[in-house]
Amino acid sequence: MQRDENSQSRARKGNRPPGLRGKEIGMYYKNLAKTRKKERGDTDDEKIRLGCSVSVPTVVLDRAQECIDKFKNAPVEERLDENFDRQFQHLLRVNFNEFLAETKEKYDVDLTNTKLDEMLLNQFLSRLENEQVRQRYEARLKLPTMQNASDIIDAVDANPVVLIVGSTGCGKTTQVPQLLLDNCIAKGRGSSCRIVCTQPRRISAITVAERVSYERAEKLGVSVGYQIRLESCKPRERASITYCTTGVLLQQMQSDPLLHSVSVLILDEIHERSVETDLLMGLLKKILPHRPCLKVILMSATVREQDFCNYFDNCPMLRIEGVMYPVEMLYLEDILTLTGHRFSQQRERRQRRDRIEREMQHKAMIEPYIRRVRGKYDDRVLDQLRFPESEGCGDIEFIAQLIYYICEMKPDGAILVFMPGYDKISNLHSTLDKPKSPKGQRWRNNLLIFPLHSMMPSAEQQAVFRPAPPGKRKVIISTIIAETSVTIEDVVYVINTGRTKSTNYDIETNIQSLEEEWVTLANTQQRKGRAGRVQPGVCFNLFSRAREACMSEVPTPEILRSKLESIILSLKMLHIDDPYTFLQTLINSPQPEAISHGVALLKRIEALDSQSGQLTPLGMHLAKLPIDPQMGKMILMSALFRCLDPITSAAAGLSYKSPFYTPLGQESRVDQIKRKLSLNTRSDHLMIHNTICGFRQSKEAHRERNFCYDNFLSFMTLQQLERMKQQFAELLNNYKFLTSSNCKQDTSNVNSEKIPLLRAIIGAGLYPNMAHLRKCRQIKNRVRAIHSMATDDGRRVQFHPSSVNNGESSFDSDYFVYFQRRQSEALYLLDATMVFPMALLIFGDGVEAGVTQNKHYLCVAKTYYFKCTPETAAVVLELRKHLAGLLLRKALYPAPIEQNGHEEQLIKAIELLLSLDDKLGEDYISSDEIDDI
Ligand code: ADP
Ligand code: MG
Repeated sequence: MQRDENSQSRARKGNRPPGLRGKEIGMYYKNLAKTRKKERGDTDDEKIRLGCSVSVPTVVLDRAQECIDKFKNAPVEERLDENFDRQFQHLLRVNFNEFLAETKEKYDVDLTNTKLDEMLLNQFLSRLENEQVRQRYEARLKLPTMQNASDIIDAVDANPVVLIVGSTGCGKTTQVPQLLLDNCIAKGRGSSCRIVCTQPRRISAITVAERVSYERAEKLGVSVGYQIRLESCKPRERASITYCTTGVLLQQMQSDPLLHSVSVLILDEIHERSVETDLLMGLLKKILPHRPCLKVILMSATVREQDFCNYFDNCPMLRIEGVMYPVEMLYLEDILTLTGHRFSQQRERRQRRDRIEREMQHKAMIEPYIRRVRGKYDDRVLDQLRFPESEGCGDIEFIAQLIYYICEMKPDGAILVFMPGYDKISNLHSTLDKPKSPKGQRWRNNLLIFPLHSMMPSAEQQAVFRPAPPGKRKVIISTIIAETSVTIEDVVYVINTGRTKSTNYDIETNIQSLEEEWVTLANTQQRKGRAGRVQPGVCFNLFSRAREACMSEVPTPEILRSKLESIILSLKMLHIDDPYTFLQTLINSPQPEAISHGVALLKRIEALDSQSGQLTPLGMHLAKLPIDPQMGKMILMSALFRCLDPITSAAAGLSYKSPFYTPLGQESRVDQIKRKLSLNTRSDHLMIHNTICGFRQSKEAHRERNFCYDNFLSFMTLQQLERMKQQFAELLNNYKFLTSSNCKQDTSNVNSEKIPLLRAIIGAGLYPNMAHLRKCRQIKNRVRAIHSMATDDGRRVQFHPSSVNNGESSFDSDYFVYFQRRQSEALYLLDATMVFPMALLIFGDGVEAGVTQNKHYLCVAKTYYFKCTPETAAVVLELRKHLAGLLLRKALYPAPIEQNGHEEQLIKAIELLLSLDDKLGEDYISSDEIDDI
């Protein structure tokens, strides 16, 4: 009793043990309540709700046990991948400061080579005599950055950190690295100069590197090159410029944390506040004291630049003023006045709740404004403003009409349209490309249309910079990428839809989502600037002044809007063990609750040790894979279990996006198609794979365009999914989990037809995102069933209307795994795969056997309890033990599970247990669940 009183009084004062954070606090009180209840004589028992039975018939159980015995009795040769083991042990043993000290000893050597210096200098001087080199050099001199060259050189000479702020297009990205390199070479110090400039996106790293080597009249890969994940064209070792993605630099720091191989580091586009640049800035602050000779240059557009200056202890700031022609700002009300456009009424048949809500919000914003400007604008124009779809990119046809209006009424000059993402870009692209209106058809052949998106193949990108031939007008449809990181000279007209896509993270619910939203004032300012590069321009904002008044000043830094699992893992790879302390030092630090959510998830998927929080061997592999750790685990398991092709399809679909598009009003047809393609698997993830298979078959028959058209599929997305699958296979092959880098290789797909196993592997990857369907009601005369379902945190959820499981009435199992939840009208599972309890018991965490009300059970993470004979429980637990051992062995010595060897016995045992699922499906609907119905 003593203890009880103690803990009670402590709790009353809110006096919980120190050091607890986030979820841990919740857990503490939960346990406290439990202890108290126990001491009052209550039992936990009454809380346990037993689910269905997972007992396995003795015959099957015996065969599974036989397999397990064969597995465990086989002599094991303990093999270690020595490199891996060395790196792993090293990670555990050495803390960040020791790590820095070690590399300092190893790499800190003077690179100066006077002979090379001389050679580089001579080469430099003689090249200046070349006509082409000189011409291109002279063209560069017109850029504002080059006009400030000597100030930049002096500032960099005198300071370890310099911040360069300049309007976009003034030549920061292309010129700063060059002028520093040439200065070094000219001063006879070329050999010790190695410049790295980070870019936020793969595509900008490549286009910029290409551009700069052109300006130097060189081939790419001589003094200038690029390096992005899985693709590089590296320049020479010394006297060179490498444009790389921020991710690549972070990865290099895992072996060279003090960046000894770099003499000048340029962090570009830091105003974007991506997670990676924020992390890099935090790391730089730690390493700068150890690298007195390293020169760091931060480059930013004019957005909150003072923040960076403060963060780096008031480092000097250079401002480069670009020549900017005036740009006229027009808002929706002005554009409607000019074009006389009328929006067609309401096209959605069903008034959905989120729509009604949106209309009300829109009304609250626009009505006061309309009252204020009444008289200044035509009443018909003001009426149009009342339509919610009048603003943003709610009406693609309107944007097309505006483009035709510019073509008709305005002098020459390229048009740059900012759209939120890929879908809307291709939507506008096809509207312009295959116009329905007579006006559109008239203008069709005068337009040169370029979609610009980081997913577009880079070969198509260079053409966008070339001026349009006479009589043609260039239309560039771009994401935020053309806002600061890509400059297209001849743009005179900007159409700013005001929409962009961004990630959001709700700490409370632990849900991350990617959603379209309004841009900030800072974005609009940058977008406007893009119209005044060569002459006065016009910026057409597709939103009213009332909307603008609601916009925030600047975007929220990405790190405050993201889940942190991947970041925590990459910090571990840098020997930064405590994410709480380090993340606190960033320019904006995420909340401790967000960090503890991340740590908790990593522990549950066994990437971190559940006790010590240290990296596990599995965690180290997941850290190296450039995708979400859950997805990483899924593809890794698929390599081990030889079911690569279907699982990489699922992972690609989840990491990128669904290949389906849904035209307005066609929702139910698309749903039907998806259902057909799901082949009754009750899995959105396997449906994606079936779709990819269908796509491949249609390709063989040269009918892929028809296949896509008939099934509402995006050809581009499907191709991108195939490319991603290929990337996954290449990565897994590099890490030796595969013997081939081809997704479709037979040996990697021995088990790819076994649906129960595929379900289990998807479950293993998406775990612990589980949901339980408690009731499924089919109301008379209704086609769709109504579900009552909850996720493991107790929140009520629904299958999203676009999920193949939505409205389905018969399931062989009531358990599901999912990747994403989204809150809109309800909390939705955007994707789900039905899994059988046995899969959760084999691949889940916290699996325990126990007895309640005289019944034996097995439970997963104290969440789901399944009736189970003690014999079954014993076999499952033994299997789990060996599986854990095998997985650890595989992590330490990567290789697929051997075929025909003893290792395969374990897969056989797993398969035996899983195989019951499909056949004994009905048994899984437990009696108490039926009572509910
Ligand atoms: P900043 O980084 O300051 O925004 P950049 O260095 O990217 O400016 O661009 C400087 C100039 O070089 C711009 O005028 C731009 O139009 C031009 N430029 C950049 N990349 C290319 C390219 N691939 N082709 C043609 N011109 C380019
Ligand atoms: Mg730039």
